[in-house]
Amino acid sequence: MSNLAGRLYIVATPIGNLDDVTLRAIEVLRGVDRILAEDTRHSRRLLDHLGIAKPMLSLHEHNEVEATGRIVEQLKAGESLALVSDAGTPLISDPGFPLVRACREQGIAVIPIPGPSALLAALSVAGLPTDRFRFEGFLPRRQQARKAHLQSLVRETTTLVFYESSHRILESLNDLVEVFGGLRVAVLARELTKLHETVRSAPLAELLQWVEADDNQRKGEIVVLVAGAEAGGDRLSVDVDGLLGVLLEELPVKQAAGLAARITGEKKNLMYRRALEMTKD
Ligand code: SAM
Repeated sequence: MSNLAGRLYIVATPIGNLDDVTLRAIEVLRGVDRILAEDTRHSRRLLDHLGIAKPMLSLHEHNEVEATGRIVEQLKAGESLALVSDAGTPLISDPGFPLVRACREQGIAVIPIPGPSALLAALSVAGLPTDRFRFEGFLPRRQQARKAHLQSLVRETTTLVFYESSHRILESLNDLVEVFGGLRVAVLARELTKLHETVRSAPLAELLQWVEADDNQRKGEIVVLVAGAEAGGDRLSVDVDGLLGVLLEELPVKQAAGLAARITGEKKNLMYRRALEMTKD
């Protein structure tokens, strides 16, 4: 395949099911001189599955800036290279951006070999509007930054898509409930294309309860999708008094206020004051 020379191929690979690899991806991976991989041992499993033996170089978030110059020189010297990540489409919350930018700046051909991405797989089955969406990647790790970021998204009207890791899903869901309100509809898309594939749609408070109650829902890889402000019910439209009224029939003021705050995303002291007013006479 001599026409591959001096080109960088960005090759999407499966997000779980190894059969989700395109014919063109196989052809390119077979044809290039070398494969750049985020984790060479991980990608070797896919290459073994495809019967491809190829020299590999590692390109990950800690060396990609430093390695870019060297790789550009290899491409200029006529080598053909394919970039793959551990799963899905490279550069989508994965390494490769500095390299692609450097190649484009220097007139080196960068060719996409499209295929799986958890973002689009999740969107395609979530049942939320897809005509417009906002991909937010991973949320900040620290709670204060995470909440501030979520706050900046609360009025966004398009579907929001987040990547999340299994060990942070509970914390993130808690913050989503607090900021967006428990009534906002969301979808958890977990382990897509794998044995334990699960897609569940429900109001955020319900999803949180479900994940809290079942540790299996905290395992594996997860995409969280949140309905846009109008599509899923804006929190301003929640009938707070109605909700508090129902809760106060069953619970003491403090508990009712706490629960109402969790469900609506409003401040606890605000709910508490309102609950006191409602129980005054
Ligand atoms: N480049 C990849 C892509 O195109 O989807 C994403 C890489 S990012 C480092 C990994 C995140 O993608 C995971 O934490 C999870 O949020 C999501 N993800 C990857 N595979 C998934 C799967 N099979 N099911 C659900 N989410 C997945």
